[in-house]
Amino acid sequence: MKVLVYSAKDFEIENLEKSNGGKHKMKFVPEALNATTAVMAAGYDAISIFSNDDASLVVLEILQELGVKYMTLRSTGYNNVSVKSAKRIGLKVGYAPEYSPHAIAEHAVGLLLALNRKLIKAHAQVQHYNFLLDELVGFDLNGKTVGIVGTGRIGSILVRIFHAFGCKVVANDVKRNSYLEHHYDLEYLPLEELCRKSDVISINTPLNYETHHMFHEPLFMAMKQGTLLINTARGGIVKTEDVISALKSGHLGGYATDVYEHERGVFFTDNSSTGLNDGLLKELIELPNVLLTPHQAFATKEALERIAETTIYNLDCWEEGKVCKNELGFETVTL
Ligand code: NAD
Repeated sequence: MKVLVYSAKDFEIENLEKSNGGKHKMKFVPEALNATTAVMAAGYDAISIFSNDDASLVVLEILQELGVKYMTLRSTGYNNVSVKSAKRIGLKVGYAPEYSPHAIAEHAVGLLLALNRKLIKAHAQVQHYNFLLDELVGFDLNGKTVGIVGTGRIGSILVRIFHAFGCKVVANDVKRNSYLEHHYDLEYLPLEELCRKSDVISINTPLNYETHHMFHEPLFMAMKQGTLLINTARGGIVKTEDVISALKSGHLGGYATDVYEHERGVFFTDNSSTGLNDGLLKELIELPNVLLTPHQAFATKEALERIAETTIYNLDCWEEGKVCKNELGFETVTL
């Protein structure tokens, strides 16, 4: 199959080539898929995209006209794809659902520890030979209540990790995981009650019509004073203006996030010489109680290997006319 790989990053090409083993004719381009770059797919059977590429209806229609039949995502989240439209126009879409939920869960814990124990600030202080502790006081996680919103692949690993820290773990999900309830004393609560009871909250749901701006002012107000919020899911689940207000008022203790609502076109690029046009992102980054990483939770050696293997598996299935277990169905409603 001829495959155009959009948004190809240097650090993933080697794995993709290794997994491919020369089977498919792959071309790697750094450009993200959008209405302008879609024409680059002329003459290709399939494309591969990443989480910030735009696969909305208008883009899918261009791809279809060009004869592209398959699209495989190198990501777990697929909120950037109009899956329903793809199904309707006969374009098959696959994704990478299980490459390493541990990579994301471990990054979430890393964000929390760095935020709570002020590790970034400590490092900056020490670089200037300032060894005072006055601004470095955090709190014990042991004995605290941690709320996990979304107990799927990533959230369920976080339940186990925080249980091992000695935390009381509560959760919210549209479906319960009885194994976690029985083995980790997990208690499912309505979202507002979870917010009222938790000292730390981790977001681990997909971004869809139900979860878009799920975390907005009323929920922030329901939280305990000083709560820490961790987001390794998708930026659009949190209303950025509201999280900034809650942080500025001091009601929210801190926000550590790997994602940002308007990250498309900014994340995965180096803007150090050009600066940023996004005032909201600047405001967020400049807040002292914010820790933002550039959508890097997936970036582990193991996860990159699995993403590459899954990408080639999806392409192989389609080429060989086999059922692809990672194909997305029309029942999924995405933004
Ligand atoms: P998953 O599908 O296994 O789990 C998601 C859970 O959220 C499910 O249990 C589901 O029932 C629940 N859920 C869905 N809608 C909900 C709602 N309205 N309220 C409460 N719960 C709801 O997915 P996963 O593999 O755990 O990944 C979760 C998300 O993490 C992905 O959708 C993706 O957006 C994000 N992600 C981010 C990175 C990163 O690099 N930062 C990497 C991988 C995944």
